[in-house]
Amino acid sequence: MTASVEFLVFSDDPALRLDLLGRASQTAAKSGGTVSLLLLGPNPNDDFDVYAQAGADKIYKTDSSNLDKYFADTYTAAFISALEKIMPTVALVGGTKRGFEMAPAAAESLNAGYASWALDFDVDPTTKQVTANCMIYSGVGTSAYLFKQPITILVAAAGKFSAEAQPNRTAEVIELQLDAPSPVSEILEYKPKAEAGARLEDAVFVIDIGQGIKLKEDLGLVEELAAKLHGQLACTRPIASDRDWFPEWLGLSGAKVHPRLCITLGVSGAIQHVIGIRDSKVIASVNSDENAGIFMQSDYGIVADLYEFLPALIKRMEEREITPA
Ligand SMILES: Cc1cc2nc3c(=O)[nH]c(=O)nc-3n(C[C@H](O)[C@H](O)[C@H](O)COP(=O)(O)OP(=O)(O)OC[C@H]3O[C@@H](n4cnc5c(N)ncnc54)[C@H](O)[C@@H]3O)c2cc1C
Repeated sequence: MTASVEFLVFSDDPALRLDLLGRASQTAAKSGGTVSLLLLGPNPNDDFDVYAQAGADKIYKTDSSNLDKYFADTYTAAFISALEKIMPTVALVGGTKRGFEMAPAAAESLNAGYASWALDFDVDPTTKQVTANCMIYSGVGTSAYLFKQPITILVAAAGKFSAEAQPNRTAEVIELQLDAPSPVSEILEYKPKAEAGARLEDAVFVIDIGQGIKLKEDLGLVEELAAKLHGQLACTRPIASDRDWFPEWLGLSGAKVHPRLCITLGVSGAIQHVIGIRDSKVIASVNSDENAGIFMQSDYGIVADLYEFLPALIKRMEEREITPA
């Protein structure tokens, strides 16, 4: 006998959990499947009736004593163990920071189908193949997928689906024993996040630096310009994540700014970065490569070596006593 289609919902965000249950139960109503909810981590106020009325047929409760809330690996290991035991057709994961960390790692480990930013999905009840439409490039386009693996993991962000209360429903509550997590990495030290000063999002002038700045010592030059403009320094992702010069970056996965003027220095203009600065009123860019993509996104483009341009600009500002209005 072929097992029926099972939709498994997991989200560490309780509101999103309900929305995903709502969407899963709509699809289950069409394909004849069941909807399950996986609870990982502490859920002291869980009201199982609420989950049942949002669409859950089954609720898997787990022991959370092995989970470290700061350490995604422990959640990922528990999630993988749950998927191995439940073997859902579709695991629908809430698009939170934790969800985006866990879901692709679990998919890789289980050789499951995977897509993020799901906008809709369906399951063929006979073949159990899953189709999904997902947002790509921050909403610039969509991709259509067909998955043939036994498990498909889809990540969906808040605001895409919603739950409708289905009164008088009840759910079966099942205690699920998970394998003890064996994380592949270990946390050696916790450090508090360094404060970046005023919020970048509120900055009127932003000096945005990229890998064209070669050495950390060279930051003195850009700091001088930032001080003259009363601006804030910001950077591309590799400057923060690889070189660790700043605690945060601009872009798709970073902060988004909307200053009056954003000056980019040695930034190539990758779309993932441009998403963070494109709402600036004016973008002026300095890059030594005349074909750099950043020039397509800029109001002013300066083809120059920033190490020659910056001192000349600062000198000219001093000569003309230019200060920001
Ligand atoms: C899923 C995903 C998400 C991502 N999210 C982000 C994100 O949120 N934010 C982000 O920033 N990136 C993100 N990235 C990375 C992004 O794709 C680029 O790799 C990154 O933005 C490039 O950084 P960069 O411009 O500093 O470096 P590079 O691409 O190396 O560019 C350096 C530029 O400096 C110029 N240059 C070199 N020397 C000089 C000089 N002396 N004077 C003037 N110019 C010079 C070069 O011509 C070049 O254009 C993401 C990538 C992926 C795959």
